[in-house]
Amino acid sequence: MKYYVLFGPPGAGKGTQAGAMVQRYNLLHLSTGELLRAEIAAGTELGLKAKALIEAGSLVPDEVVEGMIAAKFKSASGVEGFLLDGFPRTIAQAEVLDNMVEEMGEAVTACISLMIPDELIRERIAHRAQIEGRADDARPEVVENRVRTYHAKTEALINYYRQAGKYHEIDGIGSIEEVRERIFSVMDQF
Ligand code: AMP
Repeated sequence: MKYYVLFGPPGAGKGTQAGAMVQRYNLLHLSTGELLRAEIAAGTELGLKAKALIEAGSLVPDEVVEGMIAAKFKSASGVEGFLLDGFPRTIAQAEVLDNMVEEMGEAVTACISLMIPDELIRERIAHRAQIEGRADDARPEVVENRVRTYHAKTEALINYYRQAGKYHEIDGIGSIEEVRERIFSVMDQF
């Protein structure tokens, strides 16, 4: 099984590119953000707990997302691997992920990182707010907190995966098709 980490700041295009990636490589797309929004929409206890944090642009507790991912790993079938989108977002989550895949006798295959500068993050999210209507995209102060949270807690994962020899950075600037081809040319080697 392949275990891909799809990494990048908010608005880098992870969700946009994920569909083509899972199709080409027969992967299961696991987006913790989407899973959390589904919990909120279904009004579950987990969703209720996560809602305020997500709408403030803060991270939900590590155990919450780790539990969701572990459950999906167990129940998946008929795929050749997983595309983890928005997970891990902290070093602690990355360590837990490494342990989870190790227990299955596997390892993280690669971290595919879509990189865009901060100015473009704000522009892309403002654009997405008009299309998708996400509560955490609409308010500038929430977007700022997500950018801050990315730099404070998530960006450190670049070094984590670099040190493991698994970090592959892709320029996220360009058309959807251009970025997709860059991603494919990296993933074709695994
Ligand atoms: P996303 O759709 O990936 O932008 O995620 C939306 C929001 O869900 C984030 O701003 C966080 O509040 C929460 N979230 C998603 N993934 C994680 C994660 N791995 N760890 C903690 N919080 C997360």
